[in-house]
Amino acid sequence: MQRVERMLSALGKTLSDVTVYTEAEAPDLVRELQDWPPAEDLPGVPVQHRRPLIFTQQKIGAKAEDDLRVSSCDADSLRRDLAYVLGYIDPVQNYHGYDGDQARNMVCWPTHDFGTMTGCSHGCFYCGTGLRGKYLALGMNVAEITERVIGPTIEASSEQRCFRMIGWGADIISLEPEYGVFAAFLSKLAEYEERYGYFHSNSDNVDWIADVPHRDRLIGIWSLASEGMARQVEPGAPSAAARIEAMRKLNVMGVPFRVKLKPVVPLVGWQEDYAALIEQVLSRTRPETIGFCCLIWMPLEVLQERFAGLIDPEFMRAAEASADEMRDQTHSPFPYAMRAEMYRFLIAEVRKHDPHIPVFISTETREMWKELEPEIGQRATSFLCGCNPVQPPGPRLHTTEGVSGSTYFDPAVQ
Ligand code: SF4
Repeated sequence: MQRVERMLSALGKTLSDVTVYTEAEAPDLVRELQDWPPAEDLPGVPVQHRRPLIFTQQKIGAKAEDDLRVSSCDADSLRRDLAYVLGYIDPVQNYHGYDGDQARNMVCWPTHDFGTMTGCSHGCFYCGTGLRGKYLALGMNVAEITERVIGPTIEASSEQRCFRMIGWGADIISLEPEYGVFAAFLSKLAEYEERYGYFHSNSDNVDWIADVPHRDRLIGIWSLASEGMARQVEPGAPSAAARIEAMRKLNVMGVPFRVKLKPVVPLVGWQEDYAALIEQVLSRTRPETIGFCCLIWMPLEVLQERFAGLIDPEFMRAAEASADEMRDQTHSPFPYAMRAEMYRFLIAEVRKHDPHIPVFISTETREMWKELEPEIGQRATSFLCGCNPVQPPGPRLHTTEGVSGSTYFDPAVQ
């Protein structure tokens, strides 16, 4: 309740502004949530910032499908919403296992990630939760999750040095310091030698970091868009300039951070926009690394619907021409050659301003890694990137027996 009150106070509200629901009333609440967004405008406030906050208790070790209230709910979307509202929000998930990445043809690193909430206020067009989400469901039993899940997971994962506090479809630092997740997370990490925690954000809300205990255990990861992209497809997120200013503040605080231009959406004029962005980042701040990932995970039809009239015509033509080849591929909708061209452009822009900073491509295919290795200047099997589990500040790689390399394998040896 103290956590709830802190967050309400930051919003200029009190407990009397909160509607209290019981678990029995949760289905009614979920039906009510479907009426979002509100009909009337609030001038100066992006509609995404008006998503209701649902304060709940994250469940530990219980599955939504075993809860009759959830499993007997008829509509798919209502079932998922009801599960979240009742607190079925996974506190830990595993991503990018070696087998899974091999099957999906992705190059990344295996990791356990933590999460305390679901939903976001940024409304990015490339993110299903961001675009269509109707609320933020926040686990309030942070101390319990920290003790019963985060600590034991760190202890059981000696192969992993760095852990993301990322989930899910969320931007947790946009709710700090009142939410208090990072205070708890960093304190827990500080109980162990050489363990670090990532925030993963496209927010600019970093002033709280100056006062958070154990900030020496924190590493920032920015998901950074060009100015044009931030304006056009991230309606509730701060400008690129504001995010770059936040990075500069982290430099002043001595907190390391890394930059991911992810996703890079090839909007009309993207080259000039991204060239300007890279120049701004590298002239104003000192990230540890900088990397790229083209917009992926998106069927062509969704691209056409969400980004109508916004995409560079050459990229759109290429996506349409390769629709059959790219259908159901993880890296759809833009074909390989167009993505490679994009990465070459971005790497060259970085090198104009910094000949040494490590660059990387994120969650790309093994073929892309193999082809671009010379330009990237790192080995696909083991590379410095943004949020990998074995990359403490420095940046340096501290690989372990369990995570001895990336999920790359040579495409010639299939
Ligand atoms: S930055 Fe590295 S670890 Fe993070 S998603 Fe990209 S490839 Fe994976």
